[in-house]
Amino acid sequence: MSANPVDLALEANFANDLPEMASPWSAENPPDSQLVVLNEPLATALGMDPVSLRTPEGLGLLTGAQVPVGATPVAQAYAGHQFGGFVPRLGDGRALLLGEIADPAGLRWDLHLKGSGRTPFSRGGDGLATLGPMLREYVISEAMHALGVPTTRSLAVVATGRAVQRESLLPGAVLARIARSHLRVGSFQYAAQTGDIGLLRRLCDHAITRLHPAALEAPQPALALLDAVVTAQASLLTRWMLVGFVHGVMNTDNMTISGETIDYGPCAFLDAYDPATVFSSIDHAGRYAFGNQPGIAQWNLARFAESLLPLLATDQDRAVELATASIGAFGQQYTTQWSRGMRTKLGLADALDDTVAASLVTAWLALLHDNHADYTASHRALAAAARGNAESLRGQFLDLPGLDEWLTTWLSHRPDADLMDRTNPLYIPRNHLVEEALSAAIEGDLSPCNTLLQVVAAPYDERPGLEPYSQPAPDDLGTYQTFCGT
Ligand code: AMP
Ligand code: MG
Repeated sequence: MSANPVDLALEANFANDLPEMASPWSAENPPDSQLVVLNEPLATALGMDPVSLRTPEGLGLLTGAQVPVGATPVAQAYAGHQFGGFVPRLGDGRALLLGEIADPAGLRWDLHLKGSGRTPFSRGGDGLATLGPMLREYVISEAMHALGVPTTRSLAVVATGRAVQRESLLPGAVLARIARSHLRVGSFQYAAQTGDIGLLRRLCDHAITRLHPAALEAPQPALALLDAVVTAQASLLTRWMLVGFVHGVMNTDNMTISGETIDYGPCAFLDAYDPATVFSSIDHAGRYAFGNQPGIAQWNLARFAESLLPLLATDQDRAVELATASIGAFGQQYTTQWSRGMRTKLGLADALDDTVAASLVTAWLALLHDNHADYTASHRALAAAARGNAESLRGQFLDLPGLDEWLTTWLSHRPDADLMDRTNPLYIPRNHLVEEALSAAIEGDLSPCNTLLQVVAAPYDERPGLEPYSQPAPDDLGTYQTFCGT
């Protein structure tokens, strides 16, 4: 790109293709922008010049205060089921899509701001975001990327110099993020409920062209899109479950058509393994508990399919039949991929009989659950046990006879310790470390946050001196709780 960020070439494909769902809007001008963190490797990969992003013009781009010539920033309209209840009009209440950028390989990415001020969708909200939660999204999304989980990525956090009223006054910030697309299940729900089938068809075409172009060649492109999204989400949910990620607010407006993880609010990684784990302070019924996530994803996909019904067939019954078959494939795809993933986590050879592998996995997870063992540390320690040193693993367990019995059977299948080291991360953004890093950042000390970012950027590579980053939370930490809408 040119040295001046304001000359960045931004396309407006979403705004042009779907004007009914795009409100042209401007960001609020921050009183005093200060760069907090910049993702230089990501900027370079996108063809941007990191040096120029640090200039006042660069900060202008990263906060939306200075928009590239010809760009049309928009707030995107979408609907959504929030905790099961339908809200017909949500939309970007504190975010803007600046436009789409083509990387050097020609792939298109949304450049999106979060915390950029009020929009026509703000309802009662102030349109703002605060430094802690924006840094939290930065750290966790970059960790997810390094773990191989599809996700929106974080380009920068800029402090705005504006005090934002929450329970107390907090420093304001804008997150600049990148995604293959910000289209959500809720985008289709919005288009469908307008009753304008032309709009729905245009949205479908836009999504296919941008995200799932193979569907263009299919005899029924809308059905092929549905199948592609089911597949992308089955793969995403598999990765979440294998790595122990709890999204926390899987409303249909927080589920993408691209299959990227989006909207890091009350999310967190499991400490002790328990399918009932809920971190979010507002998820009283445990709707979005760790173990419920695949089922919720399928429920959300059913809402997506409902939105697409008018495009699937002219006959309503036929459309429902096609949609049901497509959604039905989710369970099989998820189970197959998850079983394969768990085998790999346990280092089991492909040749091992499926039933034997499945019973090892089931017994292992039951042991983890019964012993409140740390999910990440236990899996990593298994590789050492495969090499003959079970000491660290035994430290996670109370029922040692039960563990030893399982280990004897497992070891008889000659697990592949190197494969396990490549599969089971050593470093995840542990809840207590994230909290420490964010607290320091709010006090003006960014070094814990920068160190944490470096640690989680290479989650599988053991490095000397990083032992505290691989340790489970101290027992006295109590139950971890997260908050959204912050
Ligand atoms: P989220 O829980 O972040 O996915 O947001 C759900 C909805 O609330 C979206 O429509 C957001 O744009 C909106 N929202 C969240 N926080 C704010 C805020 N501070 N001001 C305005 N709208 C907000
Ligand atoms: Mg959201």
